Amino acid sequence: MTGHEQYAEDLALYALGSLQGDERANLEKHLDTCSSCRQELEALRGDGALLALAATGPKPPQRSRQRLVDAIAKEPRGSSAPIPAPARQFNLWAFFGWAAAVGMFLVAIQLRRQNTSLQVAVNSLGSVVGSQTIELENARRVVDTLTSPEAHTVTLVAGKTPPQPQGKAFYLRNRTGLVFVANNLAPLPPDKIYELWLIPPDGKPIPAGLFKPDARGNASVINPPGIPAGVEANTFAVTLEAASGPHDAPRGTGVMAGGV
Ligand SMILES: [Zn+2]
Repeated sequence: MTGHEQYAEDLALYALGSLQGDERANLEKHLDTCSSCRQELEALRGDGALLALAATGPKPPQRSRQRLVDAIAKEPRGSSAPIPAPARQFNLWAFFGWAAAVGMFLVAIQLRRQNTSLQVAVNSLGSVVGSQTIELENARRVVDTLTSPEAHTVTLVAGKTPPQPQGKAFYLRNRTGLVFVANNLAPLPPDKIYELWLIPPDGKPIPAGLFKPDARGNASVINPPGIPAGVEANTFAVTLEAASGPHDAPRGTGVMAGGV
């Protein structure tokens, strides 16, 4: 074999920048002395780039595609007949398949990268949703425990003191969060209702919810509407008010109160 046949595959690899080491050095040495291989290389470089583009991006111009198709059509298939021009010895069928494979490989890598980053995003969203679900579930359990009619409310007292009406207010000022629970409340007289008040430093009570105790004397108020954002609380108080209202200011009798 004295021709350029042995360089066909090397030229294709070289055109795609994949030929390394001795093979690369040998080919470069040959290219220095062989104009037809240089010519073939130029053609391959053009076609190879376009083939890669065809697999990954915009379509190659019709002219280049036609040139490839023509070249492929001229290739002898399965024949060992002598090939007329040295520059055509290179097997374009093989190269076409190989370049398409490279193109598909690049697409596959790109897709896998995208897939991986999507998977990461999905995972992190999943964990955010997961932790929010857990927080929500915990919050729901806390509220259920405090407010469910089925919850057992036990007031622990010292000695033999009979349980007295009592309430606890949990107030988170910077989130305007208020949870109030009360127990041992006396049953409501007819046409009466309990009202909770938040009393800020200026002393003007802010209505913080109406409530009725259940049969066991338990009651709760959760995040009543109408409390100004971030208002400071000095005192919480409960009064017994007329059920028909008005409920904008305390008018009835005091039941319990506690300072912050
Ligand atoms: Zn050559």
